[in-house]
Amino acid sequence: MTTVIDGNEIGDQITEGVAACTDTLVSEGVTPGLATVLMSDDGASETYVSMKQRACNEIGIEGFHHQISADESAEALFSTIDELNADPAVHGILVQMPLPDHVPKRDVLERIDPMKDVDGFHPENVGRLVAGNARYKPCTPHGIQKMLAETGVVTEGKDVVVVGRSDIVGKPMANLLIQYGPGGNATTTVCHSRTDDLADKTRNADIVIAAAGVPEMIDGSMLSAGTTVIDVGINRVDADTEKGYELVGDVDFESAKEKADAITPVPGGVGPLTIAMLLYNTVKAASLQSGVDIRL
Ligand code: NDP
Repeated sequence: MTTVIDGNEIGDQITEGVAACTDTLVSEGVTPGLATVLMSDDGASETYVSMKQRACNEIGIEGFHHQISADESAEALFSTIDELNADPAVHGILVQMPLPDHVPKRDVLERIDPMKDVDGFHPENVGRLVAGNARYKPCTPHGIQKMLAETGVVTEGKDVVVVGRSDIVGKPMANLLIQYGPGGNATTTVCHSRTDDLADKTRNADIVIAAAGVPEMIDGSMLSAGTTVIDVGINRVDADTEKGYELVGDVDFESAKEKADAITPVPGGVGPLTIAMLLYNTVKAASLQSGVDIRL
């Protein structure tokens, strides 16, 4: 019997714990604050940002939103970041990706105060993660780590294939998996668009984590029986629906489910965990910056 992992349920459990920590901070006079910055007219990015703001409001984190037109200069974004870095009510800053082509992404990430970098993308925080001393683990990989633990999937000694090597998902995921301790100790293979014979790699994996952004590219024929399948992909494909599209993952759910021991759906799998871990990092940031201790 295949377990379909319920990301909403696990996300809600984590959020409950974060909400309790928020209450503790508020009772000590500290209201956690998250600033989101959107420099894009892209509908999907707008949706992601508003979901993040809504999730903050629901548990008492104060949300600040800044919209910058996609045709403004990079300087406009830098000065917004500078203001947020200096604002004591803002503990976390999230600049929604992707950015317009004329804005240098690396400079943007480096401009954010590393203490407020709740995405965990600043080089200082990436370095700490690699060194095994993470301050803010990137939200999606951290959420997957929590999800595996909650589902009772042990990573120690397992062969894990991560499909994708992006800075936000694939690389930090692989880094977490090779750390010492619970949620790590895995033998990790990172695949990408130049990987030769991907199916050979995925068929030999105990756990497959798909983060390629290619609709339904991994199907049941590429998996062995008993695999745990985590589908990070969120892809809009044309469909005869009211919106004209539907969301599918990087995994062909129906055929993969035939082989998998446990599998995440899209939507309702990894997505809710990403948001829960953003709340987690924001509350952690408020604790670190205020000196008020919480038990996260
Ligand atoms: P990127 O486009 O930044 O990276 C995709 C990676 O997949 C690259 O490393 C690329 O290889 C690799 N890849 C592309 N095609 C193939 C292929 N045919 N075979 C093997 N590898 C391939 O994407 P992201 O990491 O930002 O996101 C991945 C997916 O996850 C997207 O669908 C995104 O929407 C979703 N996402 C979901 C989140 C959630 O909360 N559920 C959060 C973040 C992302 P190469 O490096 O060689 O180009």
